[in-house]
Amino acid sequence: MNCGICEILCPYNAIYPGGVNWRKIHNRYFMFCDEELIHDDFWSPDHYYLVPDKCTECVGKYPEAICKTACTKNAIHADMEHKESEEHLFAKKEYLETMQGLI
Ligand code: SF4
Repeated sequence: MNCGICEILCPYNAIYPGGVNWRKIHNRYFMFCDEELIHDDFWSPDHYYLVPDKCTECVGKYPEAICKTACTKNAIHADMEHKESEEHLFAKKEYLETMQGLI
């Protein structure tokens, strides 16, 4: 229903409103609104969407994925075809936390 609570709660700004573009350049994350600057990014024009590069599944931060826990419509599901190990997710968390203010 696009309430946006997930975007507010995500500790790594991994969730974006529909139609907002993002791009990673030189290990820094940017949000773009200029369509001409977008080449290959995944984005949805209609619904909130999640950037896997920035999602740690909340490992090491919260007991469970805070966005999934908070969603009253059960709209967030794990992608079982792209499972990441807990070690990988924790390493991603550590990496993202070195980028305070840049994500
Ligand atoms: S699981 Fe955690 S890190 Fe991943 S999108 Fe949800 S709130 Fe953000």
